[in-house]
Amino acid sequence: MEALAVEVAVPVPLEETFDYALEPGAQAEPGVRVLVPHGGRRVVGVVVAVKPAREARARGALRRVIQVLDEEPVLPAGLLDAVLRAAREALCAPGVALAAAVPPGTAPRPGTRVALLPAGMRALERGELRGTLASVLWALGKRARSEAELRARFPAAVPALARLERLGLIARSAGTDPPRVRARSERVYRVAPGLDLERAKRELARAPRRLELLLALGSAPAPARSTAALRALVDAGWVLCEEREVVRSSRVEPLVQPGDVPELTPHQRAAVAEIAAAIEAGRSTQFLLYGITGSGKTEVYQRAAEAALARGRAAIVLVPEISLTHQVVDRFRARFGERVAVLHSGLSAGERFDQWRSIREGRVPIAIGARSAVFAPYPELGLIAIDEEHDAAYKSEEGFRYHARDVARLRAERAGCPLVLGSATPDVATAWRCAHGEIARLVLPERVARRPLPQVEIVDLGAEKGRRGMLSRALREALAETLAAGRQAILFLNRRGFAGHVYCFACGFALRCRHCDVSLVYHAGAGPRRAREPLEGELRCHYCGYREDPTETCPSCGSREGGMHGFGTERLFEELVAAYPTARIGRLDRDTSARKGAQRAILAAFHRGELDVLVGTQMVAKGHDVPGVTLVGVILADLGLHFPDFRAGERTFQLLTQVAGRAGRGDDPGRVVIQTFLPGHYAVELARTHDYPRFYREEIARRRPHGWPPFRDLVQVALSGPREAAVEAAAQALAGLAKTVPCADVDGEKVEVLGPAPAPLARIRDEFRWQLLLLGGHEGVRRVAGELARHARGPGFAGVHLRLDAGPLQML
Ligand code: ADP
Ligand code: ZN
Ligand code: ZN
Repeated sequence: MEALAVEVAVPVPLEETFDYALEPGAQAEPGVRVLVPHGGRRVVGVVVAVKPAREARARGALRRVIQVLDEEPVLPAGLLDAVLRAAREALCAPGVALAAAVPPGTAPRPGTRVALLPAGMRALERGELRGTLASVLWALGKRARSEAELRARFPAAVPALARLERLGLIARSAGTDPPRVRARSERVYRVAPGLDLERAKRELARAPRRLELLLALGSAPAPARSTAALRALVDAGWVLCEEREVVRSSRVEPLVQPGDVPELTPHQRAAVAEIAAAIEAGRSTQFLLYGITGSGKTEVYQRAAEAALARGRAAIVLVPEISLTHQVVDRFRARFGERVAVLHSGLSAGERFDQWRSIREGRVPIAIGARSAVFAPYPELGLIAIDEEHDAAYKSEEGFRYHARDVARLRAERAGCPLVLGSATPDVATAWRCAHGEIARLVLPERVARRPLPQVEIVDLGAEKGRRGMLSRALREALAETLAAGRQAILFLNRRGFAGHVYCFACGFALRCRHCDVSLVYHAGAGPRRAREPLEGELRCHYCGYREDPTETCPSCGSREGGMHGFGTERLFEELVAAYPTARIGRLDRDTSARKGAQRAILAAFHRGELDVLVGTQMVAKGHDVPGVTLVGVILADLGLHFPDFRAGERTFQLLTQVAGRAGRGDDPGRVVIQTFLPGHYAVELARTHDYPRFYREEIARRRPHGWPPFRDLVQVALSGPREAAVEAAAQALAGLAKTVPCADVDGEKVEVLGPAPAPLARIRDEFRWQLLLLGGHEGVRRVAGELARHARGPGFAGVHLRLDAGPLQML
């Protein structure tokens, strides 16, 4: 038989993979994990290909795989391939990407085995050793154990082990420790098949306890307390004892109860028919399910999932954040029961592993979850659906910086199944691809049961004189009416705070870069600026590096009230309690939901109508479907608009539309009040008229002259380090280099280099941060970025860390 080698992706930030020889007779296929030597260490990598040993590449002698860790691939072929391709797109090392695609802690770890030698055994038996040395040897017993385990049990064993080894009493060798996260099993008992019960009764006449136990046990395996009587029955062969795996799960009370399966509306029916046809034909069509809030998108995902299951295929459904969109999960559970696995970060490692295994072993055909559920290891996919596809939560912001939508597309292409992207406010890039024919459009143009969209009213805060506190007269009146009618209200304050905002609180004016049309950021040099402090430092554009001196007075209205004031949900809450003493008011923000389960408890109380008003941050804006809500108030729409990002308008429009969509989902019509200093801003005005198509045209027209995505691809090159001069010098050097990398040949487009500039958060935990941006064709920006990364591994970059983000969503 021919000698084999495997190509392995190791979890280090290198683009290349490495070849290793397999022991003769060893088996490995792509997708299994292997323990291999790498750079003087042993690491767990993933096999990406198997080839004849003579085709293997090696600098010196071909090194050997130490151990093959899985019998079955942890990543089915389609998933393996999609992750490798997504890693290339995201400029991530393949090994790092693959490590992110399997649940953490489930691979055996490189470790040291310790075994007792015959000399050790003799010394032990003769009682020649005492204290820790003896305890360690006793613990070792006959079988080799992991050194880590011994150390954990005998913290004093660390020097003892070395001594025992020198004395020739133990031997240490390289091996593996079991994974941190393992399947859990329990003992189950059942009456042995074919047992002659009458005979057993006779023989056990004088052992009533055993007889009673035997009669209580059935023929189906069940857990039981291990007693002497039970053990005796097992020893006698009358009862069988088996190990059975348990699935750990922490079920939470659903917010929605299973309802009847509704008759589809004609638009829903048309959408489901198109998706089902693609499933039937095995076509990897991408669909944009553009449906206004409350139009019944979830029902479409459910019917599409049914169609996939009917063809014997699996379905993956992604939701932005499980805790906030739990209703979608509840509704799938209500419809599909035990056929649904739920994956999200709130699970314990063990629960997560169990859910993942039920998917891998084909026990559950539907996986629903947050971003990482896109890695659900199904070999045969029939559908991937992404709810609220515009949500930024789908982008991973650490390690493997993938966008779940990109991984989903690659998986769908590989599996030959449709990808459904659902939203009332699609990502501008998705709508653009739809307009260019890459994505098919499905539309749900009206709310279910012909419920009207809510009336949206804009309140110009600058025009209201004598306002004290955060609520305008209009919002106060609307709230009073809602409470008097016994209805519920949501008040939303987008306080994703940003200390560097330069913002006039009197008129709402914010300074923007004249080149990039994004907000300028104040860099004080030392810490965040407090209100009314004299302005030192400078204003910077963190895209292009443009700088300006700050002014004491607002360039627009002359007020000296620049800067952000200390206001947030807590103050809003207090103001409301004072103004409406009899109302039951709940608050949902990072502070109130820190405790586990607290967020859900608040939401559940609101759902049950035990709260009249829910006040909160982004958490209140998403997904909730509470029929009693007739009023939604937005305290200050401008906050998101001043975010120093070219997507500020898009984010604000999406958020306003989402939060407005929470109103009027029951039988009574909804009403929305948006407070702002910028009543004429297109994002605010078009959210008022629920006009996504016009918003899209406006947004596209604004991005075109700058060439922002989707016109060109964007890569962020972020540098950080403890010495500012070194970080800045590295940024300058890379910016210079970036301009010289030839790339016009790959897609006929020159790559534009913006910056370098300090990042908006210029310093985090004593690390200084700079960045540059690459704008250009898909291949071009990636080629330049790759070149910069290689260069940054060379001399001159000591103490500077480089990170690449292809398609960055938040450039802090
Ligand atoms: P979206 O996700 O588009 O905002 P949902 O899927 O939450 O909308 O649907 C809004 C409400 O309408 C839900 O309460 C849902 O149960 C209900 N619904 C969906 N489709 C139908 C239908 N065809 N007939 C009646 N009610 C429906
Ligand atoms: Zn002003
Ligand atoms: Zn600029």
